[in-house]
Amino acid sequence: MQVVDAILPARAAFGAVPRPLGFVPTMGALHRGHLELVRAARASCRTVAVSLFVNPLQFGPDEDFARYPRDLAGDCRQLEEAGVDLVFAPERETMYPPGFSTSVDVGEIGARYEGAVRPGHFRGVATVVLKLLNVVRPDALFLGQKDAQQTAVLRRMVRDLDLDVRVEIVPTVREADGLALSSRNAYLSVAQRAAAPTLQRALRELYAALARGDGKENAVRAARGLLDPAATLDYLDVVDADTFEPLDAPRAGAFVVGAARFGQTRLLDNIWLPA
Ligand code: AMP
Repeated sequence: MQVVDAILPARAAFGAVPRPLGFVPTMGALHRGHLELVRAARASCRTVAVSLFVNPLQFGPDEDFARYPRDLAGDCRQLEEAGVDLVFAPERETMYPPGFSTSVDVGEIGARYEGAVRPGHFRGVATVVLKLLNVVRPDALFLGQKDAQQTAVLRRMVRDLDLDVRVEIVPTVREADGLALSSRNAYLSVAQRAAAPTLQRALRELYAALARGDGKENAVRAARGLLDPAATLDYLDVVDADTFEPLDAPRAGAFVVGAARFGQTRLLDNIWLPA
């Protein structure tokens, strides 16, 4: 497995690999969810590349950029075992040298839900992913359904900017009790970890209530009742999978989405209603 950290050597390395090339962008602190994306990439691509980069542009000023878990050596060990061919792990200054000022404005889709709670988040995500795509030039981009709005934003960007890459969405990997794997789960106290699966239960209840014909207000109230009382709900809704506009009732191809805070830790989750 080759590890590169600078743009020009990365371009040379990625340009020389057997195609198709599958690419999995990550912020490191890898878990089984990330490795599932690698597995999906290996299943359909001759070469698999992963990036490890904690992107400062997608964190707000009061967020956890500084304390976000970082473990380059441990991540590389896991990726080597998983059969990854190339890793791109740039420093912050490599991606954003002095004077860097261009960004991708993803429009309305990036202003709702996660974008409303985290202003500028999706601008940061779209900007870094476009930069990474320009360096790696993959045939396929693998994204986790766990970050449903991110998949919608990036699919929109790929269409709008005519990017020549196929986007593949990989189902969420969960713990036995239903909690979606996330690098941020490491922040949870024992009590918060025990309470965290109530977010997924609330999403299921929202779906069930809407499916049996309850109005959205009542359905959201019933679902909210299942969330651990110590948690703070940011949002709970059913949305169009492409636009992330709110829907009154679930339909094929929609997402039931939610986010809540357990102490300082924000967790998000969703249920996809297959088309
Ligand atoms: P991150 O390192 O959090 O930026 O995530 C990198 C990629 O892994 C994103 O496409 C995420 O959606 C995906 N991912 C994170 N957690 C999971 C999970 N539990 N199951 C599947 N994919 C995931």
